[in-house]
Amino acid sequence: MTMDRTHAPLVDPFARRITYLRVSVTDRCDFRCVYCMAEDMTFLPKAEVLTLEELDRLCSAFVRLGVRKLRLTGGEPLVRRNIMSLFRGLGRHIASGALEELTVTTNGSQLAKYADELVASGVRRINVSLDTLDAEKFTAITRWGRLDQVLGGIAVAKRAGLRIKINAVALKNFNEDEFDRLVSWCGEEGHDLTFIEVMPMGDIGSENRLDQYLPLSLVRARLGQRWTLEETDYRTGGPARYFTVRETGQRLGFITPLTHNFCESCNRVRLTCTGTLFMCLGQDDAADLRQALRESEADDALDAAIRSAIDRKPKGHDFVIDRRHQGPAVQRHMSVTGG
Ligand code: SAM
Ligand code: SF4
Repeated sequence: MTMDRTHAPLVDPFARRITYLRVSVTDRCDFRCVYCMAEDMTFLPKAEVLTLEELDRLCSAFVRLGVRKLRLTGGEPLVRRNIMSLFRGLGRHIASGALEELTVTTNGSQLAKYADELVASGVRRINVSLDTLDAEKFTAITRWGRLDQVLGGIAVAKRAGLRIKINAVALKNFNEDEFDRLVSWCGEEGHDLTFIEVMPMGDIGSENRLDQYLPLSLVRARLGQRWTLEETDYRTGGPARYFTVRETGQRLGFITPLTHNFCESCNRVRLTCTGTLFMCLGQDDAADLRQALRESEADDALDAAIRSAIDRKPKGHDFVIDRRHQGPAVQRHMSVTGG
């Protein structure tokens, strides 16, 4: 007897329920962060990228199948033309209660323009990537970015009522001396802060991963000398482990894919802007949902393709960075599947 799975929630072979979808809405970006992209990146031809209507349909299928949290990312999601129409459309799932959270990860360059519209679409919390508070270093790390534009965008977003979490990649010999400053600035501004370990994803030209890699266990120990880090069991549905900084009252998270493997509690999958579903950030196996999407206006084939992909979700990633493993663990860049 075959079981009717039409209304069953998405559960993978390791009994993990899939409730979180991250969608990279574009692989393009107005920055070229050195750990993320090579300066002369080749981007996808526009014809291969799903339309905003197709992205809405795909996201809505996941919501129907039990996804409760949706994060739009990229590349830089806010540089995609007319992206607010996608936020507005997806906001209907927040209004109906089908979706608990609609959120975005952004480099902040376009926040001044879009913060109010994000709020109007039902976005309440956003992640903004900011690795340094030093203007020169900011331009060095992003190659094309301007710190004042991003800080201005963050200020507008705060005024618009968005809760902001700052994401900073911990980079050896680059922003190591600024971690205390980032903690105190976030404390003053009322932002949470998460440090991220560099992950070996994609070719980044002449940059070397071992030169960039700084284990967060070290960062945490150093921060512990200056700040009182109180353990919490707070989770956002993402992989970060959180502490409360007693002196500032803000949360401080650590995303440690290399020093601490978080795969056992993984609840998420990632969709690219071409409709490819990656069941794990650190593995190459993927499912093409674009064909099922375009094959028919009814969603049966699409639902079946999503379920069969989830049935293949692997147990975990195999990231390693050491002297013998300095190249990428997966060929694609973070901007393809989103952070
Ligand atoms: N452009 C947006 C931004 O920068 O927030 C969204 C996409 S970006 C790929 C998402 C996050 O991934 C950023 O916080 C970025 O710092 C991080 N990231 C990019 N490449 C990474 C890598 N190789 N290792 C760790 N984090 C990375
Ligand atoms: Fe662009 Fe974000 Fe990658 Fe930086 S980390 S290059 S802002 S996609």
